[in-house]
Amino acid sequence: MQRQIFTDEHEAFRGTVRTFLAKEVLPHYEQWEEDGIVPREAWLAAGRQGLLGLAVPEEYGGGGNTDFRYSAVLAEEFTRAGVSGLALGLHNDIIGPYLTGLATEEQKRRWLPGFCSGETITAIAMTEPGAGSDLQGVRTSAEDKGDHWLLNGSKTFISNGILADLVIVVAKTSPEGGAKGLSLVVVERGAEGFERGRNLDKIGQKSQDTAELFFNDVRVPKENLLGELDGAFLHLMTNLAQERMGIAVAGIAAAEHLVEITTRYVKEREAFGRPLSKLQHIRFEIAEMATECAVTRAFLDRCIVDHSEGTLDAVHASMAKWWATELQKRVADRCLQLHGGYGYMTDYRVAKAFTDGRIQTIYGGTTEIMKEIIGRSLLA
Ligand SMILES: Cc1cc2nc3c(=O)[nH]c(=O)nc-3n(C[C@H](O)[C@H](O)[C@H](O)COP(=O)(O)OP(=O)(O)OC[C@H]3O[C@@H](n4cnc5c(N)ncnc54)[C@H](O)[C@@H]3O)c2cc1C
Repeated sequence: MQRQIFTDEHEAFRGTVRTFLAKEVLPHYEQWEEDGIVPREAWLAAGRQGLLGLAVPEEYGGGGNTDFRYSAVLAEEFTRAGVSGLALGLHNDIIGPYLTGLATEEQKRRWLPGFCSGETITAIAMTEPGAGSDLQGVRTSAEDKGDHWLLNGSKTFISNGILADLVIVVAKTSPEGGAKGLSLVVVERGAEGFERGRNLDKIGQKSQDTAELFFNDVRVPKENLLGELDGAFLHLMTNLAQERMGIAVAGIAAAEHLVEITTRYVKEREAFGRPLSKLQHIRFEIAEMATECAVTRAFLDRCIVDHSEGTLDAVHASMAKWWATELQKRVADRCLQLHGGYGYMTDYRVAKAFTDGRIQTIYGGTTEIMKEIIGRSLLA
């Protein structure tokens, strides 16, 4: 089915992203995967190309365009290219809204120009060894010391954890407040007592640096509180819908791409004297996956448009996230099976998509948590 949500401007932007990937990313990508990290130069190149801070107002160096369809194009093209390491979606769509929506004028002037140029790489640190799905279990604390916050605790699984220059940290500011006692504080590279653990060894997304972060008596300036004191929970709830949409958009794009690759493969690969595609079972497999992708695409495109117009609610973003990522997981598994032994070889695209994509149903809120959000809202 012809997609109807993009204009010529969006398609021109798609061309720019493809050129960027071909020139600045794909020639180096294997090396980045081996290194477990991308060089800072790649972020600067993305900044020069105008791919950072798409929604940041122009006066701070951004693109000044809050149409989420541009973010969707970026996520789709990175996914189709099999690139997970250079986490522009995390920076633009997950962290960006915290800075544009919550920062004071002084903070915007301090942080946004570097955010848009690629000089300031960002991360958001919610998860702790003892608190993932349940953020009420956060133990990292920021104690009010008059002229600064004294930050103590640790975070884990933080994307961009090694590269980040600016980390938004979820910390307890009112010990008795539960979910209502959490705030967002910004820790900058070089702060005394801020240390990073090793780059964690993952089964996929090898060039994406993911790390533990440690805060030992870090003095965070008072002017680095982001948003309302004790207001983190509300800020997170507001921004998590966009995070989930970004992940969902990548999920359906990955599933569609896998079906395309596998359709080509089964036409070429022969068994029992004829192409695999001549076997009815194989045709049914492709037919089922293509149908599931087409149905999901219609829902996702509607969610993308609604989100661009500011009308998508948290429940529909959660539906999009769990549905598209679970589809991606199922499709990756079935496509790998259809590739036989070749599907298990890391130089085959389907193998990489299988391991790179597996995290999608876990981060940004697990499938189970998405169903909790939806169920609670329906049964309230
Ligand atoms: C590669 C990677 C990158 C990440 N990037 C970041 C990042 O940048 N910033 C950040 O803050 N975090 C990040 N995370 C953390 C991620 O968001 C968490 O791993 C995720 O939210 C799940 O938390 P958990 O690992 O503690 O699992 P748990 O919360 O311990 O969950 C374990 C299992 O129990 C289930 N479960 C938990 N509660 C319920 C419930 N109420 N009902 C039903 N089932 C439930 C879960 O669905 C899951 O299946 C990242 C993780 C990975 C692996």
